[in-house]
Amino acid sequence: MRPVITATIAVLLLTPAASQARQSNGFERWFTDETMRIDYFHTGDAVNEVVSLDQVYVRGTWAGSLTNLIDPFDNGRYFIRVSDEASGELLFSRGFNSYFGEYQTTDPAAAGIPRTYHESALLPCPKQPIHFTLEVRERDNSFREIFSSTIDPGGVGVIREPPAERVDTIEMLRSGDPHDCVDIAFIAEGYAEHERAKAVNDLERWIEIMFSEEPYQSNREHFNIYGVFRASAESGVDEPTRGLWRRTAVNSGFNALGLPRYLLTEDNRTLRDIAGNVPCDAIVIMVNSERYGGGGIYNLYAISTVDDELSGHVFLHEFGHSFAGLADEYYTSTVAYNEFYPAGIEPAEPNITALLDPDRLKWRHLVEPGTPLPTPWDKEEYEGIPARQRELRQEARARVDRLRQEGASEEAIKRVEDEMEQAVQELGDRREEILTGLPESAAVGAYEGAGYSTSGLYRPMRDCLMFRNSSENRTLCVVCRDAVLCMIRYYRGLSPAG
Ligand SMILES: [Zn+2]
Repeated sequence: MRPVITATIAVLLLTPAASQARQSNGFERWFTDETMRIDYFHTGDAVNEVVSLDQVYVRGTWAGSLTNLIDPFDNGRYFIRVSDEASGELLFSRGFNSYFGEYQTTDPAAAGIPRTYHESALLPCPKQPIHFTLEVRERDNSFREIFSSTIDPGGVGVIREPPAERVDTIEMLRSGDPHDCVDIAFIAEGYAEHERAKAVNDLERWIEIMFSEEPYQSNREHFNIYGVFRASAESGVDEPTRGLWRRTAVNSGFNALGLPRYLLTEDNRTLRDIAGNVPCDAIVIMVNSERYGGGGIYNLYAISTVDDELSGHVFLHEFGHSFAGLADEYYTSTVAYNEFYPAGIEPAEPNITALLDPDRLKWRHLVEPGTPLPTPWDKEEYEGIPARQRELRQEARARVDRLRQEGASEEAIKRVEDEMEQAVQELGDRREEILTGLPESAAVGAYEGAGYSTSGLYRPMRDCLMFRNSSENRTLCVVCRDAVLCMIRYYRGLSPAG
């Protein structure tokens, strides 16, 4: 056992007085301007979980705010809390989600198969020994401690090696001091040595996409963007269901949690080592592939392929998850999860609600007075359209078969096919109209159908980038935009709510 680390069990008491003391004493009293990375293993199944410490590193500057150190968002399945060992004063906290947390909601986890994931907690490097606590959110939204340890930043076990080798970094956008800006590390994944220029081009394209959408567009001067390149031995990415395996920089692959389009990496240590070469509040992994797919986990990373026609949508959708902790607003696609949101419990995410108390709706300040909650919409018609389109296609196929048997002309057959195509198109247009084309499409309310659930969960508007990736526009709804803006303000050291 490393002498620096001694496991203890303690209860943290956060009092308003302690919080005020922290603010008046300032960052310099408690922290150096470096990043401490606490690595640990998270093991378990659907009901059990165990955390064990791996290594503690100190490397690189602290990229986060010097004033906003206590997480005000109450979002994420997990929370780290860091307090001064001597006084018990809370110094730092952060909510987040994890790959392990998602695994817990899958069939294998429910069957009792334990799995281990490697995770990291990032904090400004403390000057004195700290009490580090990891907590999990219970079904009723309370928190339960699952790990705690004393960590002495001066101990000989703390690793102070320089960051990973063979990594090139490029500053794509420089707006200011990392402490006052959002610092994003874009990691090139699956680019071979000879594809270096393509990685830069792809990143330039993504930066353009990002800053053509709100709220990024009007906050561009608050972002620092870094490209981080380590050549992959092979080009591409693992595609297990196609038997394709590639040796790449951060070992990402499709078929995460058994879902073909779900793209993630489990190689947290390598990812953190590479990202640690730049000041970093958020990580985006750009995967050199033409296939559709991606993933995003709150305060962990966003990942997307770059060369599918919808890659720009996927990138911004996944960044919504990873940066602002936004929930999926869709409810009609297949997912790997079982009962991701327990019935009758308000989800922590800012953009979906169980609407248990409409008067206290979390985005109430963005709702026009007089808007009914829940807000009626053409839900049944919307949901019924894909099935009606399939029926029309089947009917047309049957008619064409009959016509061929009867020896009908190609002209007559084509007429049937054209009529069907037109009817299918009209239904598609109507589906689009329900989401975006009606006067009420612009109204913020509470629309049933969200968070993988057709009933009992509500989203803020009819359409949003967190609702679907298939439209021409990449626009977040008003509530999601507001949540992203709050996070930008948090990293700038301002009050998140404005
Ligand atoms: Zn939204």
